[in-house]
Amino acid sequence: MSEDLTRLSAAELAEGLTARDFSSVDATQAHLDRIVAVDGAVNAFLHVNAEEALATARSVDERRVAGEELHPLAGVPIAVKDVVVTRGMPTTAGSKILEGWIPPYDATLVEKIRAAGLPILGKTNMDEFAMGSSTEHSAFGNTRNPWDLDRIPGGSGGGSAAAVAAFEAPLAIGTDTGGSIRQPGAVTGTVGVKPTYGGVSRYGLIAMASSLDQAGPVTRTVLDSALLHELIGGYDPRDSTSIPGRAPALVDAAVQGATGDLSGVRVGVVKELNGEGYQEGVSARFAQSLDLLRGLGAEIVEVSCPHFEYALGAYYLIMPSEASSNLAKFDGMRFGLRVEPEEGPVTAERVMAATRGAGFGDEVKRRIILGTYALSAGYYDAYYGSAQKVRTLIQRDFAAAFEHADVLVSPTAPTTAFRFGEKLDDPLAMYLNDVATIPANLAGVPGMSVPAGLSDDGLPVGFQILAPAKADDRMYRVGAALESALLSAWGGPLLDRAPALPTATIEKEGQVG
Ligand code: GLN
Repeated sequence: MSEDLTRLSAAELAEGLTARDFSSVDATQAHLDRIVAVDGAVNAFLHVNAEEALATARSVDERRVAGEELHPLAGVPIAVKDVVVTRGMPTTAGSKILEGWIPPYDATLVEKIRAAGLPILGKTNMDEFAMGSSTEHSAFGNTRNPWDLDRIPGGSGGGSAAAVAAFEAPLAIGTDTGGSIRQPGAVTGTVGVKPTYGGVSRYGLIAMASSLDQAGPVTRTVLDSALLHELIGGYDPRDSTSIPGRAPALVDAAVQGATGDLSGVRVGVVKELNGEGYQEGVSARFAQSLDLLRGLGAEIVEVSCPHFEYALGAYYLIMPSEASSNLAKFDGMRFGLRVEPEEGPVTAERVMAATRGAGFGDEVKRRIILGTYALSAGYYDAYYGSAQKVRTLIQRDFAAAFEHADVLVSPTAPTTAFRFGEKLDDPLAMYLNDVATIPANLAGVPGMSVPAGLSDDGLPVGFQILAPAKADDRMYRVGAALESALLSAWGGPLLDRAPALPTATIEKEGQVG
């Protein structure tokens, strides 16, 4: 094949497949070969699903030849974050405690992916139970940022973002509890979307904080995110928080946005999400993107969200509280690891303690302790109760701001990718990565990160777009408009400027088809 299929977007792959320029087996094999070549350096994948992916590709090719009507993305390969359960495929959530567990069922979004005929390339690395901003908390080693292998790919979904940035997959699934789709998107130069809470089913997501978790797309273009978001979204009776009714037309919005006309669109710059603490190059790229949006006809206004200042504090009470309850099921009895005490009687309680002691990493233990403390009698009102009140105030800030603006914008993350180890011993510094992304999770509103260019250090910067709940289409319109303006400014995709990766053939579990 003369053309390198891994450089095509999902929409381009879909077009080529429909035109029968190449087959899904060609496209899938090209990505599996790329994984073999570069994943030794990047370590985006925990498990490669070669055999099954190729079988899916073959079946889609046969159905296409037979003239069957197929989903627009049929035959386009995808990677899935390892916190999403996949029948018959190992699912670890980045934790030793789940090592060896093979789920007996699929998450709803995986069912949809399979039904549409997307070959699943494998499962991507992540911070343990999605707790982190750097993927350094994975029990299975760091994922490296394709822009600079000494730096973090963001987290918790560093594996999905790095896989897409390294052209190992055109599409990936991430999950975002406080920024884990958007912040990795920002630091790897990819597009990441956290849908409206309830927009994509959580059935089959290993829960961290149920009132905040949301799965969404990780891609290289805004249109690709819209295509994937429409596929995985929609009402699911198996998720009690799923939104009934029709979701907005996201692909149409992206296509409309790409025409570059934003006249009549009010873009609100959140005063509290920029300035102090934000790297100079990040703020500079943000300002430049605002100028581009103005040039497309958007009206730029400033809005104030005074309670966003307390979002991080509220998040780090609500999230650990919910996590401490959700993680109680990992007891050494039901899933994965079971460790018996080294000496003394083998009681249920002692097996639980030994299993959790050996199976959970430090960050997970830290959050379980924080959460149980915040929920304990005598502290509940002071901590959890207060945090919930702050959450309401943040929701009101959003409601007030959306009276003056159709979308809100900010830098996605305060800095570009940092070096490994830089923030590992300082949990608070690590938590600060999500100052700009967390408010959306607390309010349930959708958020998108679009690559906005390179900072002075040569590393990618993300531009965040937030919309009111159930108005995800607005961010696709604005995101696609900004993307097309930036593409003309750069003269081509940002990821074309990433350095070439060292290639080496490596062995990964499940790699050989
Ligand atoms: N970095 C945040 C945390 O550690 C967000 C994680 C996420 O979105 N899953 O909680």
